[in-house]
Amino acid sequence: MTYVVIGLGRFGYHVAKGLAQQGEAVIAIDNDEEKARDISEFVQDAIALDSSDPKALYEAGIADAEMAILSIGENIEASILTVMALKELGIKTVVAKAITQVHGQILSKLGAAKVIYPEMESAKKLVKTIVENMNYETIDLSITMKIAKMAVNSLWVGTSILSPIFKNEFDVKPIAYKHQGEWHTSFNKNDILEAGDILVVLGNSNNIEALSKRVLM
Ligand code: ATP
Repeated sequence: MTYVVIGLGRFGYHVAKGLAQQGEAVIAIDNDEEKARDISEFVQDAIALDSSDPKALYEAGIADAEMAILSIGENIEASILTVMALKELGIKTVVAKAITQVHGQILSKLGAAKVIYPEMESAKKLVKTIVENMNYETIDLSITMKIAKMAVNSLWVGTSILSPIFKNEFDVKPIAYKHQGEWHTSFNKNDILEAGDILVVLGNSNNIEALSKRVLM
C-alpha cells in the first residue's frame, strides 16, 4: 500500500515520518522545496509540487496510491483544490486536516473519507488523561467506524436498550451498558436505561458524530 502525504508542516511531517517508520511506502509532497528535502531521508519519495494542480500530481505518479493524507490547514483554497484534484485522480481514500468546522464540512462534501482536527483531537486526548470518568468519549475503530461511550442522559432515560430509536433515529447499535456498577453485553427488552447508566454504541463515524452533537448539546 502506498500513502501520499501532502503538506509537510508540523502535522504532515510527523504523519509521513511515522508511516515510513512503520515500514510503509510514503510519497511526501510540499510546494516548499526545503520541506520536501527535510523529509526525503525518511520516505520513499519526496517531491516539491503544487498539490492543487491535478496534472502535477498525476505526473508525480500518485494516481496509484490507495490513500492520501492531506495536511494543508491555513491555505484553505489549496486544501479544497487538492481534495478535488485527488478525487479527480481516483484516489480511493482521502484523509484531510481541517482547521475549522466549515472547512471540514467542505472537505467532506468534496469526498474526503475522514476529516481530522489535530489540535482539537489532541486536546481531547489530554482531557481524557486528566479526567478519570469521562461523560462522553469516542474510540476510532477505523476511518469509517467508531464506538461512543456516554453517560445515559435525559434523551434515553426510561428507554429500553433494545428500543428501535437507536436504529431509526441515530442508526447506531448499542453494544454494552453499565447499570448499578455492572457491565451487560446481552440484553432483553426489559433492560431499561436509567440516569447514571453508561451506554456504549457502535456506528458509522458520521452517525456517531451526529449523535455526539445531540448528546453534548
Ligand atoms: P502545521 O500546523 O501542520 O504545521 P500549518 O497550519 O502551519 O501546518 P499549513 O498552512 O497547514 O501550515 O501548511 C502545511 C504545509 O502545506 C506547509 O508546509 C505548506 O508549504 C504546504 N502547502 C501549502 N499549500 C500547498 C500547495 N498548494 N501544495 C503543496 N503544499 C502546500
